[in-house]
Amino acid sequence: MTKYKLEYIWLDGYKPTPSLRGKTQIKEFDHFPSLEELPLWGFDGSSTEQAEGRSSDCVLMPVALYPDPARKNGALVMCEVMMPDGVTPHVTNARATILDDEGAWFGFEQEYFFYKDGRPLGFPEHGYPSPQGPYYTGVGYKNVGDIAREIVEEHLELCLEAGINHEGINAEVAKGQWEFQIFGKGSKRAADEVWMARYLLQRLTEKYGIDIEYHCKPLGDTDWNGSGMHCNFSTKYLREVGGKEYFEALMAAFEKNLDDHIAVYGPDNHLRLTGKHETAPWNKFSYGVADRGASIRVPHSFVRNDYKGYLEDRRPNSQGDPYKIASQVLKTISEVELK
Ligand code: ADP
Ligand code: MN
Ligand code: MN
Ligand code: MN
Ligand code: MN
Repeated sequence: MTKYKLEYIWLDGYKPTPSLRGKTQIKEFDHFPSLEELPLWGFDGSSTEQAEGRSSDCVLMPVALYPDPARKNGALVMCEVMMPDGVTPHVTNARATILDDEGAWFGFEQEYFFYKDGRPLGFPEHGYPSPQGPYYTGVGYKNVGDIAREIVEEHLELCLEAGINHEGINAEVAKGQWEFQIFGKGSKRAADEVWMARYLLQRLTEKYGIDIEYHCKPLGDTDWNGSGMHCNFSTKYLREVGGKEYFEALMAAFEKNLDDHIAVYGPDNHLRLTGKHETAPWNKFSYGVADRGASIRVPHSFVRNDYKGYLEDRRPNSQGDPYKIASQVLKTISEVELK
């Protein structure tokens, strides 16, 4: 028998957007356990904005499992938060609101800043570094500094070893800003992996004395880019049937549900979706072929392929909850009739 270190990870009840929490339990198995073998567990919800002090137990239900590449005999266990009965989803459990996941593919582009001493990594103590331009996909000390790439590479390696489906990484437009992309067949799968990649990034950077800043506009109203989390999505129907008429009906539904989308696309998004810095104004829905200034970018290949393929909603921000984002995208899609 081996004593496994099981890190149960969940989302707390913090508003306007949840944070990651995790705690370890040790269990003996004679093999690396499967998801089905992992027991329910509990935590004190009064410390995470998920319960009152008097009746504070919340239940952790394992829903996804990854080997923990940084820990001997370790496993990372993504959990949904349930009520004490163990079957009713807690009100903060957005994963449980994803109803129909079948055939849905999601790709999230997570942008973020490294922060040290209250400012982006590589910013001088006073003032700003030289303006944006050379940093996006840049190389060299003056563009990316001396430590960011080391962390990014270490994070990528951890994620790949954990089985997270990274599709790529790049340095972003602002100094100290980076991106990783995660693709998954099944929105829950993709969103679980985004949260787990965030967890691994935050845990990794502890030892560097660096924090991850997910806020969508950490440098406020300046000429420094904000951070997004573009949501690329497709359904089986969109990939295999599609068509101009269906596409236009889908875009009409996205326009009609604008407020519901913006409500879950991450806090303070009006600061980022201004119409500048490759964004569309938050309060006006638009779509356009290859248009990075539209709410939804329609890839060239989509039009060429008789309106089949995937679409990119560019509005979700870096601090958004991918469960809520996917849930709303799928809800809007479900409102459009299939031919
Ligand atoms: P860009 O920065 O130009 O917007 P990226 O390469 O960073 O593009 O991200 C594109 C994303 O689109 C990738 O994460 C990829 O996984 C995703 N994607 C590609 N094909 C599909 C598809 N059929 N359904 C959903 N997402 C897709
Ligand atoms: Mn205790
Ligand atoms: Mn990208
Ligand atoms: Mn980007
Ligand atoms: Mn994009």
